[in-house]
Amino acid sequence: MKDSLCAQCGGKLHRKKTTLDRLVEGAFYLFENVSVQMCEQCGEIWIPGSAAERMDQAIRGKLKPKRRIPVPVY
Ligand SMILES: [Zn+2]
Repeated sequence: MKDSLCAQCGGKLHRKKTTLDRLVEGAFYLFENVSVQMCEQCGEIWIPGSAAERMDQAIRGKLKPKRRIPVPVY
């Protein structure tokens, strides 16, 4: 994969593992160790297509979660 630049500010992107969360129709999804590209200038996170697809599948119930955690709501 070639080095890409941030579409937001043109800064350099670094590969990074991070935790992402998604709230879809009142259900909370947490994704650990997702490989993303993070901009060193503005901190914007770019999610590669493969990771985004996996998250989509998980949200549609196609993947088995590793574990479940209770999430407090206020
Ligand atoms: Zn940027």
